[in-house]
Amino acid sequence: MSTTADAAPDSISRSESRTLRYAEVVVDARTGKTGDTFTYAVPDDMHVEPGHLVLVPFGPRMLHGVVTGLRETPNVDYTRPIASVVEEQPLLTPERIALGRWLADYYRAPAFDALSPMLPPGMRGSASQRRRPASRKAWLAPAASPSALRRYAEEQRRAPRRAALSLELADLPGGLPAADARKRHSAAAVARIVEEGLASLQAAPSPGPVTTRAPLLPTPDQQQALAALKSAMDDPPATPRVWLLHGATGSGKTEVYLQAIAHCLSRGQRAIALVPEVALTPQMTERFEERFPGRVGLLHSRLTPARQRDEWWRIFRGERSVVIGPRSALFAPVEDLGLIVLDEEHEWTYKQSDAQPHYHARDFAEQLAARTGAVVVLGSATPDVVTAWRAEQGSIGRLSMPGRIERSGAPTSLAKVDVVDMRTELREGNRSIFSRLLQERLRDTVASGRQAVLFLNRRGAASVVACRGCGFVMRCVRCSTPLTYHSVPGGAGRLQCHHCGRTRTEPRRCPKCRSAHIRYLGLGTQRVADEVCRVVPDARVLRWDSDTASVGGAHERLLRSFAEREADVLVGTQMVAKGLDIPSVDLVGVVLADIGIHVPDFRAPERTFQLLTQVAGRAGRGTEAGYAVVQTYLPDHYAIQAAKEQDYAEFYGLEMEHRRAQGNPPFSRLVRLLYEGHFDKRKALNEAQRFTGRLRQTTREWDMRGVDVIGPAPTYPPRVRNAWRWQVLIRGQEPRVLLDKVSVPPSWRVDVDPVNIV
Ligand code: ADP
Ligand code: ZN
Ligand code: ZN
Repeated sequence: MSTTADAAPDSISRSESRTLRYAEVVVDARTGKTGDTFTYAVPDDMHVEPGHLVLVPFGPRMLHGVVTGLRETPNVDYTRPIASVVEEQPLLTPERIALGRWLADYYRAPAFDALSPMLPPGMRGSASQRRRPASRKAWLAPAASPSALRRYAEEQRRAPRRAALSLELADLPGGLPAADARKRHSAAAVARIVEEGLASLQAAPSPGPVTTRAPLLPTPDQQQALAALKSAMDDPPATPRVWLLHGATGSGKTEVYLQAIAHCLSRGQRAIALVPEVALTPQMTERFEERFPGRVGLLHSRLTPARQRDEWWRIFRGERSVVIGPRSALFAPVEDLGLIVLDEEHEWTYKQSDAQPHYHARDFAEQLAARTGAVVVLGSATPDVVTAWRAEQGSIGRLSMPGRIERSGAPTSLAKVDVVDMRTELREGNRSIFSRLLQERLRDTVASGRQAVLFLNRRGAASVVACRGCGFVMRCVRCSTPLTYHSVPGGAGRLQCHHCGRTRTEPRRCPKCRSAHIRYLGLGTQRVADEVCRVVPDARVLRWDSDTASVGGAHERLLRSFAEREADVLVGTQMVAKGLDIPSVDLVGVVLADIGIHVPDFRAPERTFQLLTQVAGRAGRGTEAGYAVVQTYLPDHYAIQAAKEQDYAEFYGLEMEHRRAQGNPPFSRLVRLLYEGHFDKRKALNEAQRFTGRLRQTTREWDMRGVDVIGPAPTYPPRVRNAWRWQVLIRGQEPRVLLDKVSVPPSWRVDVDPVNIV
C-alpha cells in the first residue's frame, strides 16, 4: 500500500474536506505490485470519505475500489475521476482500514483481498449481483440489559407508554412481535425506544420452539475465569487483554464464553465467537441461540448468498449483538466490540490456507482487539504449544479449568485410555487391523446396546512406510525426515524425502529387523467398516468422512442419525474428533495413531497428541467413564504416552525441548514459499532451484545471519492438478525481512506463519 495514503488526516472537518479533492483508492485489480492503491480525483459534486466503496475507471475497465484516504494534491501527474459511489455510507471504519493494511502487509497479500472480506457479501463479485436486502423487521428485541431498561422506565415516568414498553422488554429477553408492541404502546413509543438504542427491530425469530436457557451457577473455576475476563472488559487499559482458557473437554468452557458474552452485552458492547467449523458444531450454535435469542448472527459460507447478505446488513445495522461463525466472522462489521472468543484455538482451520490473505484467526483477532480494546479468550483442552508458551512467558494470561463438570450428580471422570502395541499383535498371530482388545471391547459395547466410534487419522495416510514387525519407519539418510511413498505403476514404489528431495526405492525387507512386513500405512474408512462387520456381524455401521459427507447438510444428518442410535458404530476420519457430544458413546477406538506422527511436519507430534486427547474426550460424556483404545506401532512415542495419560503438561514439556533443539516455533518464525508451477517436471525443479538460490544469495548479500533458507523440497502430494509443486521455507527471528529484499515471482505463493509445511 502506498505510504502517502497515511498522510491523510484521520478526521477532516467539512471546510477542510473541500480542499481534499483526491482519494487514495484500493482497487480490485491484480496489478502484481505490492499495494494496489491508486490516486483518483473526486468530482466536485461527490462526497467521499475513507471507507466508501466506489467504482473507478481502471484501464478500459470499471472496477470496485475502497477509499482508504483523502489528500490535497495527487502524487502523480494525471488522475482520472471516481465514477460513482456504490453505497451511500462508508462501509469500513478507520480501524477496519488499518486492519486491512496490517493483513496485507503482514501476510503479503494484495490490498483489495485484505479489505474485500470486510465488505457486504455480493459486493466483492460482479456489480450486477449486488442487492441490498429489504429488511423484514417484524420483531422487537431488547438491546439493553433488563436493569438498564428498568432504569430507563424509571427516568421516563413522564412518558408512560415508553416506560411501560421498556418495563415489558425488561421481562422479555427474547423480545416480542413489533406489531403487538405498537398496538399496546403506540408506534411512536416503539420508534423512540429503537432510536434510543434500547431495543432493535429484527426479523422474527425462526419458527419452532424457542427455548431460552438461564445461565448456570458457575463452579469456582468458572467463577475465577469469569472474574478475570469481566475485570479485563471493565478496565480497558488493564493487561493482559488476551487470555488462554485451558480447560479439559467438558470442563465448562462454553458456559464461561456465554457468561462472559452476557457481561460484554450488559456493558453495551458486542461479541464475536469463532468456532473451527460451523457445520460440526451445531450444539454450540444452539446453545448460543438459546442464551441470546434473536441476538445471534450466524455468518458462514454455507448460507445462501441472500442469507449471507441479510445477516451482514443486520450486523452492520447493529441488530445482532453476538456473531458466531468460522474464522471469516472476524471480518463482520461488529462495532463496539468487547469480546472475541476462539473456541478450540489450536485448530488448524483457523489459518486460511486456500485463499489470500493467508491469515491466522488468532493473530488477526489479537490485532482487531488491540485496535478496539476488546478482550480475547482462546479456549482449548489442548492449546497450541505456542499459545501455552506465550502464557508461560506472561505475554498472555492463563485461566485453568482442570476438571470435568459433574453432571446429574455423578462424577464424569476422563475416559480410560489403553494403548495397544500392534507389533505384539502381529507377533502373536493377529493380522487383523483391530487388536484383540479392540475387538473384545467392540463386541461388549454393541452387545450392551451402547455406541462406539472408530477413528482413522487420514492426514498423510498412505504416505509413510513402516515395518509392522518392529515399527521402524523409513527415513531420509540425510535429514531423517520420514520418507513418503509414491506408487509407480507396475513396479516397486519409490520413497522420497520431503525435506531435501532425495529418493530411493521401496525396500523389500525391514532394514532393522529383516521382517518382510514393511509397507506403507494406508487405510480407508471402508476397509475399517468392513472389518467391524467381520468382527461384530450384527453391528450397524455408519461411515463419516469427506466422501460420505460432502453434500451440504450431510454432516448434520449423519451425526443426528448416530445420535438417535440408528447405528452402533461410527467410523470416521479426524472430523469425528470435533463436535461429537453423544452421551451413549462408551468406546472410542483409534485404529492407527501413528499415521499422523510420521507426516514430515514438525507439528506432527503435536497434532497427534491433540487428536488423541480430543478423541479420548469423546468417550464417556454420559455418566460412565468410557474407554479409549489407541492402536499403534510406536507405543513409546512421547505424543502417544502423554495422550494416554491425558497429560498436557508432560507433552508440553517434551515438545518444547524438541522445538528448542530444532529451532522451530516459538523459537523462530517461518515463511513458506510455495511454487505451483509447471507441467514439466524438470522446468519446475529448475525454477524452484533458481529462486531458492536467489533467496540464499540475498541472505548473503545483506548479511542476514540467523535467516535460514530450507529447500527446495517437494510438497505432499508433489503434484496438484498436473502441476509440480515445490516449497521453500524461510526460518528465523524475522524471516519476513528477506521478503523485503527480493521480489517474489507471481507463481510463488507466500504463506507467513504457515500451519502446514508438507
Ligand atoms: P466445554 O465447553 O469445556 O466442553 P461445557 O461448557 O460444554 O464444557 O460444559 C460441559 C457440560 O457441563 C454441559 O452439559 C454444560 O451444560 C454443563 N455445565 C457447564 N457449566 C456448568 C455449571 N456451572 N453448572 C452445571 N452444569 C454446567
Ligand atoms: Zn522391522
Ligand atoms: Zn532428506
